[in-house]
Amino acid sequence: MKEMNDMISCKEMVDLIMDYLDNNLDDEAAKAFDMHIEGCEDCHAFLNTYKKTVSLTHQITYEDIPDELSKRLSTLLKKKKDN
Ligand SMILES: [Zn+2]
Repeated sequence: MKEMNDMISCKEMVDLIMDYLDNNLDDEAAKAFDMHIEGCEDCHAFLNTYKKTVSLTHQITYEDIPDELSKRLSTLLKKKKDN
């Protein structure tokens, strides 16, 4: 049963996002990630925030994004889900 892999929750997206941006996801996970991004505005915004942070600073890589920012974003995402 592979169906579960096609359904990623927003919480799981937070865990996958850095691997995604570093191209460390396998094909299946990357596909599931893309599918979720297309259907979820919150995670789309989340991804863009990550990208913007890296392009603004120019010096850090995705892996260097501070835990605090990561935590803040994931908290934001979880809060949105509650509404
Ligand atoms: Zn989502």
